[in-house]
Amino acid sequence: RAKELGVTVGTYDSGQDASSTDQLALLADLQDAFVADDQIILHLQPAVDLVTSEPTGVEALVRWHHPRRGYLSPAEFLPAVERSELLIPFTRRVLDLALAAAADWTASGIDVPVSVNVSARSLTDPTFPAQVTEVLRRHRTPASRLVLEITESVAVSEQEIVDEVLARLRSSGVQVSLDDFGTGFSSLASVTRMPIDEIKIDRSFVDEMIDSAAAGAVVRGAVELGSRLGVRVVAEGIETIEQRAALIAVGCPTAQGYHFCKPMPADKIVQALSQLARSAPTNVTQLRADD
Ligand code: C2E
Ligand code: MG
Ligand code: MG
Ligand code: MG
Repeated sequence: RAKELGVTVGTYDSGQDASSTDQLALLADLQDAFVADDQIILHLQPAVDLVTSEPTGVEALVRWHHPRRGYLSPAEFLPAVERSELLIPFTRRVLDLALAAAADWTASGIDVPVSVNVSARSLTDPTFPAQVTEVLRRHRTPASRLVLEITESVAVSEQEIVDEVLARLRSSGVQVSLDDFGTGFSSLASVTRMPIDEIKIDRSFVDEMIDSAAAGAVVRGAVELGSRLGVRVVAEGIETIEQRAALIAVGCPTAQGYHFCKPMPADKIVQALSQLARSAPTNVTQLRADD
């Protein structure tokens, strides 16, 4: 029995197949989760200055603490949510939790914005900008402290409404970040067409940049693009000191990944941010000498 517990308790369940019946079953549970209690939770992961390790922002990553299945990753339930009427209340809940968490670190004198991932479908909802404004007002949070991360994988037919929604959000002061840059629809075309504040270089390029000249060229190119367009650049998924050195060498300012911090529960984030802010950039001389 102990062995059985070992495999079920604390597993992240990320390998689980998201078959459609399973997704339907989950959806029924999700309805309960909303009315019931605090099953929707956020883990938070800082982005940091690559040289000084000072925090530059915090990303909210949703998890569903399922009463029977344990912690479920977004990949396991988001597809069902996105196809349902639950998307609007779900997104509002995530924004609510993210802004509440941001109020904590702001109160501790740490002045960095919170980033929230947004489903492509929300960007085709003409009421989405008003929903965002409503949550900001309720939390008395200036719009500039919210970054919305988008991946822009919507059909061409919906492009017009997406452009309008993004323009409205941005004119209200909310920042927009292009997530997973270099993959799928988050490409060069998006950067030229849309007004954005930040690009996040997809983890796959950071992963391969040391072994693959091509991946390295993509990272270098994204960094240069960002500096020419006046758009912030964040490297996703940094895991090693070697990647840190390579990113600094190509002039990448900011990164996010296990090397600095894993995503953590909200009650741990203020302490983690203060620690990052205080930690001396001990490796920097070494890193610079290598490039
Ligand atoms: P993303 O926005 O690109 O988030 C980065 C993912 O990489 C997260 O996975 C994070 O836990 C993981 N990660 C961070 N650092 C490292 C690292 O150093 N190594 C590795 N291997 N992984 C790292 P997660 O939390 O499973 O989220 C997956 C995706 O789900 C996110 O990708 C985002 O697109 C989506 N997502 C997360 N939260 C939300 C949400 O509240 N709403 C919506 N619509 N989508 C969300
Ligand atoms: Mg993201
Ligand atoms: Mg990403
Ligand atoms: Mg990614």
